[in-house]
Amino acid sequence: MNIDIHELTNKSEVTFKGEQAVSLLGLNLSNGAQNCIANIEGTVTKKGTRYLVKGSISSIVMLICDRCIKEFEYPIHTEFYKQFTSATDEADEDEDIIQVTQSSIDLSDVAAEALFLDIPMKCLCREECKGICNVCGQNLNEHICNCQDADVDPRLEKLKNIFHPQSEE
Ligand SMILES: [Zn+2]
Ligand SMILES: [Zn+2]
Repeated sequence: MNIDIHELTNKSEVTFKGEQAVSLLGLNLSNGAQNCIANIEGTVTKKGTRYLVKGSISSIVMLICDRCIKEFEYPIHTEFYKQFTSATDEADEDEDIIQVTQSSIDLSDVAAEALFLDIPMKCLCREECKGICNVCGQNLNEHICNCQDADVDPRLEKLKNIFHPQSEE
């Protein structure tokens, strides 16, 4: 979404509301986050050479569960605050302030950052996700396989490796 800052020559605040396409692929997230469409709304307030952008964003991001490697929907609703400036020196002094070079403010990076900050480091489709079986690869949330019965005590597992050292390879 682009906000026309010409509108801010004769008033100090404009509001915005709409859809924003967000690119998360470029962030190289290990959780498989894809591009998404977000609903975004807020206000831009002009203070001298500064443009203060404040708003809220909501979207549903597709993530891959760390335990069962299945894709799941992760709803996000979060707030953001960002400063833009039309003065070059202000942007140079503080890297959190973005330089405005055109007659509009582009919110796509701000939206991507807001969503990114809300995505957890550890992604689980649900708190009690059972993951997948190490032996047969069965998704244990769907149904339990028979390998569970054959589960070896980790101490016995070590012994097994002593007798079959190449089984690790
Ligand atoms: Zn899972
Ligand atoms: Zn199994």
